Amino acid sequence: MGGDIKNRSGTGCPDPAAPAEESLAQFRFYEELNDFLPADRRKTAFIHTFTRRASIKDMIESFGVPHTEVELIIVNGRSVDFSHIVTDQDHISVYPVFESIDIRPLLRLRPAPLRCPTFVLDTQLGRLARYLRLLGFDSLYRNDYHDDEIARISSEQHRILLTRDRRLLQRSIITHGYFVRATDPLQQVDEVLKRLDLYNDIEPLSRCIRCNGILTEVDKDAVIERLEPKTKRYFNQFRICRDCDQIYWKGSHFSKMIALIDGFRNQRDHDGLHETHPMG
Ligand SMILES: [Zn+2]
Repeated sequence: MGGDIKNRSGTGCPDPAAPAEESLAQFRFYEELNDFLPADRRKTAFIHTFTRRASIKDMIESFGVPHTEVELIIVNGRSVDFSHIVTDQDHISVYPVFESIDIRPLLRLRPAPLRCPTFVLDTQLGRLARYLRLLGFDSLYRNDYHDDEIARISSEQHRILLTRDRRLLQRSIITHGYFVRATDPLQQVDEVLKRLDLYNDIEPLSRCIRCNGILTEVDKDAVIERLEPKTKRYFNQFRICRDCDQIYWKGSHFSKMIALIDGFRNQRDHDGLHETHPMG
């Protein structure tokens, strides 16, 4: 544990063998931030030796933890921001963005979480993007985005960057980002809904799965020429994408989607709170 930092710069007994500029800091990472650390540094305090002057942001990222995952840093009992220069004997605790502990009374590293969250997803997360749109979340995605472009969109449009690329999250212009742990797309949806607490914001059939456009109601007569015979016979309510003209209705896809959402909700600790959806 961490109480054994030796005071080399203190009074009386300088250690002639140690380089004069060598400093020690104690780090402890909390909750899911441990996912990024090697096994021997997880859920325990560890000592980091350093010789160069560095900001706490750079030092945290040198351990493999993206700064966008960090919500609160306490150094010697006081909260600091990312520009804090780590000094000898610092005791440092690092807390994640989506920790459930109430840290509001303390200074945060950034303004309150974004309301009505919107997203931009990296090129590996196409299926997650489709699922998020299906649930009504504004989710930008293209399979040919360059990293610079994604970072700029996230920063300029205040979109939460979802990625499986830690290096992308290390860019300093990114203030809101989340490293998706799961590799299976359905598990990714579940993970993102839970970690970002998005259940209250689900609005099925409000976004186009294909292009992220907004769906509006449309009269059956206006689209009847484009419907398959069975769809024509059994369904009366339709929505259409304003951008790409795709038609949506409460068919089998819709039922599957509702079952999917219910499945996610049932996995929550406190489920059953929000049962409404626009076409229901
Ligand atoms: Zn569309």
